[in-house]
Amino acid sequence: MSVDQVDCVVVGAGVVGLAVARALALQGREVMVLEAADAIGTGTSSRNSEVIHAGIYYPQGSLKARLCVQGKALLYAYCGERGIAHRRCGKLIVATSQAQVAQLQTIIAKAAANGVHDLLLLTREQARALEPQLDCVAAVQSPSTGIVDSHALMLALQGDLENAGGMVVLNSPLAHAECSPAAIHLIAKDGTELQARSVVNAAGLYAPALAQRFAGLSARFVPASYYAKGNYFTLSGRSPFQRLIYPVPEAAGLGVHLTIDLGGQAKFGPDVQWVDSPDDLVVDPARGDAFYAEVRKYWPVLQDGALIPGYAGLRPKIGPPHEPAKDFLIQGPAEHGVPGLVNLFGIESPGLTSALAIGEHVGDLLRKQ
Ligand SMILES: Cc1cc2nc3c(=O)[nH]c(=O)nc-3n(C[C@H](O)[C@H](O)[C@H](O)COP(=O)(O)OP(=O)(O)OC[C@H]3O[C@@H](n4cnc5c(N)ncnc54)[C@H](O)[C@@H]3O)c2cc1C
Repeated sequence: MSVDQVDCVVVGAGVVGLAVARALALQGREVMVLEAADAIGTGTSSRNSEVIHAGIYYPQGSLKARLCVQGKALLYAYCGERGIAHRRCGKLIVATSQAQVAQLQTIIAKAAANGVHDLLLLTREQARALEPQLDCVAAVQSPSTGIVDSHALMLALQGDLENAGGMVVLNSPLAHAECSPAAIHLIAKDGTELQARSVVNAAGLYAPALAQRFAGLSARFVPASYYAKGNYFTLSGRSPFQRLIYPVPEAAGLGVHLTIDLGGQAKFGPDVQWVDSPDDLVVDPARGDAFYAEVRKYWPVLQDGALIPGYAGLRPKIGPPHEPAKDFLIQGPAEHGVPGLVNLFGIESPGLTSALAIGEHVGDLLRKQ
């Protein structure tokens, strides 16, 4: 029986898989995206804060730092060109105690090391002049932070892919693969088989489990999976703030922050709740109790009962709780030795911001072959 041949297969139609597929298609390659679900973007890409991050917090020289700063510039330009709804609303990182003021200075220095030079240290009065309801000791203003309609972004990426001759195939979960020097043989759950010259594993939370089912890829290149749920609580009523408001960051997340969507709806979160399953997406209303105390540190007039359970997303972690967050792990043939294969592991925040830059990076890894 003959097996269909495709030049490139991207597994996963989240924002990262679509951006990678678009980049490869714009190189002139034939691209097919295999997506397990019945629509694009139903995974982590539709369960996040939709923030265009500035590139502030990540260790200097990390992929997160580099791809976030590049991705932010690419994303603003792309949104402008394609009319994708977005707003460069800016954000304030707030110190709510004297002890945190020194951390603001560290944040400014860290951002500068990453090439982000537009942060401003504000006094309490300057911060309150911008956001009168804010209570803080001092703040850092990040003018280049923004928000984006992630679904409009994904539709635009899919449109570019299809205009360049590529396609997304829904309801097509990949089961396993066999890697050989000449090609990668793919077997879908329904038994369909495909032969591809290049394969990009952009399966998000499931990327490590899928890579374990790639015969010919050594298990030592596949990281363990951990899941850190982020729960959101929506604020009833109008947003009290024009800008995004973040506390000084915590170990595993960015703290219970306020983000606004393009419709003006405010939400708080995500918190950090380590869970065992990639399907654990229910928001426990009881977790809202802890939100009140956290939010009142910078917005003391938050009324009892104003927070409504919203939604949750899972961070695709590749390091365990209580360890510093790992960098994006993007492995091409030079790392694992399998021709044509790129695995994307641990693409947590700022993955949405970085998506276009990740696309270019993966395109370069495969072009070098
Ligand atoms: C709570 C939270 C908040 C965040 N906030 C932000 C933010 O504000 N800004 C930012 O820049 N980033 C943010 N992120 C990160 C961002 O959402 C992710 O980095 C990004 O969405 C990852 O996209 P992806 O395409 O890699 O994964 P996903 O969106 O999860 O897509 C993976 C796709 O692969 C498919 N798939 C899985 N297995 C298979 C298989 N075997 N065969 C075929 N298809 C398969 C899935 O169905 C899914 O559609 C946040 C993340 C979380 C969890």
